Amino acid sequence: MRAAILHGAHDFRIEELPTPVLKEDECLLKVKSCGVCHSEIHQWNENISGLEYPRFIGHETAGEIIAVGSGVTKFKIGDRAASWVDGKGYAEELAVKESRLFKMSEELPYDLAILEPVACTTNGVMKANIQLGDTVALAGTGFMGLILLQQIKLTGASKVIALDIRDEMLELAKELGADVVINPQKEDYKKIINDLTDGKGVDVSFEIGGVQSTLDLAADILRMEGKLVIFGYHPGERKIKDLGYWNWMAFDIINAHFRNLDTILLGSRIGMKLMNEKKINMKPLITHKYKLTEIEDAFKVAKDKPKGFVKSVIVFE
Ligand SMILES: [Zn+2]
Repeated sequence: MRAAILHGAHDFRIEELPTPVLKEDECLLKVKSCGVCHSEIHQWNENISGLEYPRFIGHETAGEIIAVGSGVTKFKIGDRAASWVDGKGYAEELAVKESRLFKMSEELPYDLAILEPVACTTNGVMKANIQLGDTVALAGTGFMGLILLQQIKLTGASKVIALDIRDEMLELAKELGADVVINPQKEDYKKIINDLTDGKGVDVSFEIGGVQSTLDLAADILRMEGKLVIFGYHPGERKIKDLGYWNWMAFDIINAHFRNLDTILLGSRIGMKLMNEKKINMKPLITHKYKLTEIEDAFKVAKDKPKGFVKSVIVFE
C-alpha cells in the first residue's frame, strides 16, 4: 500500500509500505479520506528541531473496514467508519483499534467525515456549558469556528455572533446560521456588540484564531463574569497582556483543550452522531480536495489560505 511520509520541510514522499498487521482489537481501514490539519502545517513548513523526521502523520481519517482482528465485536468487513488516530493517516491502509472507530451513516460521504476536529469542537462546546438564551461570540470563523458555530446553535444560545477579518468567511458563517457577522477591521465591533447586549458584552466568547489578535478581541467583547473559552491552538509563546483586566472583569477562563483519551473518544462519539444526523453541515467547509500524490499541494493551500479556502482533504481513489 502507498503512504505519504514527511521527510522534512516541503518534502512528502510517496512510499510503498506493507499492509499493517492487525492486533486482536484492531480493524483494517481502507482509507478513503484524511483531512489536512492546521496543527500539522508547521512541521511541514519547516524542519522543527526536536521533532524526528521522517514522520508518518495524518489523523483525520475515514474509510471502509476491509479486515477485522479476532477480538473485534462491533465492526464487520464493509462497515464505513471515521476514526480517531494519532498518525499514519496519509496512507491507503490503516490499522485502528475498534474503540477508536465510529460508524458512519450510509449517506455521509467519506470526504465530509472529518471526525477529529469535530471531536474537539464537541468537547469545547460541552465544556463551555452554554446556557439557554446566552449570547455567544466567535473570534475567528475558519474551519473550526464554522463547526463550533453550528454546534453552538444547537445549545439554545439566543444569538451567535461571528467575527472574522475575511468577509467570505463571514458570508459562510451567515449561511451556516450566524445571527450577526462582524468584520472587526472594518466595523466598530464594540459598538455593535454593546448595542446588542445592553452595553454589557457577550455571555460567552470563544477565542478560535490562536493568535494574539483573536485572544484580545474575545476578551474585549466579553461581559463581566462572562466565559472566555480558549479554543484556539497557541503553540509557542503568547502573552496575556491584560491579565489585570481579565482579573478585574472576573472572567471565567475555560481552556477548551483536551488530552485525556476518554474525553476525546466521548467527543468523537457525540460528534459522529451529530454528523450522521446531519446536525452539522460539513459540505461548504471542505473546499479543496487532493489525491495522495498531490499532498504537497494540499499542505501548501492550507498554509497559504487563498480566498475561499476553508479546509483541504486528501481523498483516495
Ligand atoms: Zn486535526
